[in-house]
Amino acid sequence: MNTTPSNIEPANGPDALDRDHKILLAIIKRYQLSIANNTTHSFAAQLFEDLREYASQHFARVEKVLTQTDYPDIAQHIDAHHLFSSELNRFQQLYTDLPGLFPHKAMLAFLNKWLTSRTSIANQSYRQHLEEHRDQVDALLGTSSTPSEESSGVQPPTPSNCAPKLRVLDDEHSIGQLICNVANTLGLDTKTYQSAKDFYSGYEDDISAIILDLHMPDIDGVEVIRDLAQRQCQAQIILISGFDGTVLHSAEELAVSQGLNLAGSLTKPFRIIELHELLVSLAGKRALEETIATPAQKKPEFTREDIEKALLEGQFKAYYQPQLALRDQALVGVEVLCRWQHPELGIIPPSEFIHIAERYDLIDTLTWGILTQAVTQAREWQNLGLDIQLSINISASMFNHLDLPEKILQLTQQHQLQPQKLVIEVTESVVMDQQVKALDSLTRLRLKGFQVSIDDFGTGYSSMLQLHRIPFSEIKVDQSFVLKMQTDPEAQAIAETVIMLGHKLGLTVVAEGIEDAATLAQLKLLNCQVGQGFLFAKPMSPSDFISWVQQDSKDNLPDFHLLSA
Ligand code: C2E
Ligand code: MG
Ligand code: MG
Repeated sequence: MNTTPSNIEPANGPDALDRDHKILLAIIKRYQLSIANNTTHSFAAQLFEDLREYASQHFARVEKVLTQTDYPDIAQHIDAHHLFSSELNRFQQLYTDLPGLFPHKAMLAFLNKWLTSRTSIANQSYRQHLEEHRDQVDALLGTSSTPSEESSGVQPPTPSNCAPKLRVLDDEHSIGQLICNVANTLGLDTKTYQSAKDFYSGYEDDISAIILDLHMPDIDGVEVIRDLAQRQCQAQIILISGFDGTVLHSAEELAVSQGLNLAGSLTKPFRIIELHELLVSLAGKRALEETIATPAQKKPEFTREDIEKALLEGQFKAYYQPQLALRDQALVGVEVLCRWQHPELGIIPPSEFIHIAERYDLIDTLTWGILTQAVTQAREWQNLGLDIQLSINISASMFNHLDLPEKILQLTQQHQLQPQKLVIEVTESVVMDQQVKALDSLTRLRLKGFQVSIDDFGTGYSSMLQLHRIPFSEIKVDQSFVLKMQTDPEAQAIAETVIMLGHKLGLTVVAEGIEDAATLAQLKLLNCQVGQGFLFAKPMSPSDFISWVQQDSKDNLPDFHLLSA
């Protein structure tokens, strides 16, 4: 498998070296997406290899050009190249030794920082030097329009002429022009339209991305969304709007619910950097899709037989994500999250199999297996002096068995785990599906001393009603609000309101999806009691969790300590 992109336009002169940067950037973006999409380890490993290989080819080209054209600051360039190569080697070694603990975020931060500084290599003196020596550069790189027989021996991959197509639909000419300028620097094939009619008259089926202004005089953006959905448009859609955030949110919902691929949105006036980031991720995404799977070859869903076999072979494993008291960063518990350890495909996240297990009535067996692993694990941790609570996710069908509370009690008694150490998490839809039975079981679970939590609060249909009916002891602010707290004032207002509501009802409030220090600080100010998120740790296997508890992964967390048993 070669992950090196081939859809970046050929170039000559100084642009040939900038083109190298674009290719490096595209490889890095694929790496970023491969992490986001939990792509297999072998793909990430291949990306490392490509990155190293392509970077060393590029360095050889740059060094050759700069040496032979007597560039004054060459030493600085060579130092930067060495730094990159040695850091990449270090990361690759780490990856080989500890694939499960690999610090992807640190690696990405390094790559992005390095690349930003290198692409700003389009800095005046460097660029000017190359321009002044254009003929020599062409000859050295073998890129002149009348190719000479000379070659450096180190060539970039052969480009093809299929640059991704970006179409921009905005009645403001200046906005279209701005987007066009930024997109051109990324090698996108861009066209702008000021009216939907013109856009439709030149409509092509193979558009990669569409930037769509919601407010246009003739046919507005919402009508275009409807129309694109009817045409079963596969392009990535970016919405832009100058209206308040609620209009944009509703249009986003509309686009997603009609099956369009929403890639992001921008509020006017937007910053060029925001636009650039979105377009870069689009270019990377498209390249990734080409490498991994075309839409026609979409990954098939797992079958009932796959899940049954995995259940029989014990491939579903409990992973643990820490929950910390925000006041003092003490570890108070873990959320138990299921992972499928597939013998060929590696670790598979729940989004790919829980709904299938539910469809074929296999979810009870699966969840029961996870609960048993977790309760057994909690006993072992208690023996080590780690006395924390477990939060477990329960699906609707489990409430069909009215003896669920008795069975859970029996399990915890077997492992000498106090009921108050177990939190049963249910979502609003679970409660809606099984109104009477869920109320019966959850009330009796509370009577037996277990805690009951309402998960993903605010995303269902009747949150308030459920809060009033069911004896919850905890409320979890949904991560979709927490993740956007820094950028979206409405998400922030909702998160604040849920926290206040939780306080008024005397519930423990847990925020999930804390990814940055600013959000953590804000949640602390709001007196949210407990938090969970990638800022602290991702869900981990039992051994990784113990290492996390014992050593340095939490050194970055201010004041981290274990709650004394
Ligand atoms: P959930 O119960 O809402 O779990 C929280 C999800 O948020 C987890 O995804 C977790 O990995 C993710 N998460 C936590 N912190 C962050 C963060 O900072 N950023 C981001 N982007 N995500 C974060 P996961 O593990 O993929 O689980 C997805 C859902 O699958 C769970 O949502 C739960 O509804 C379901 N699930 C997981 N395990 C089980 C199980 O054993 N039984 C049942 N019935 N459902 C399960
Ligand atoms: Mg949950
Ligand atoms: Mg949740």
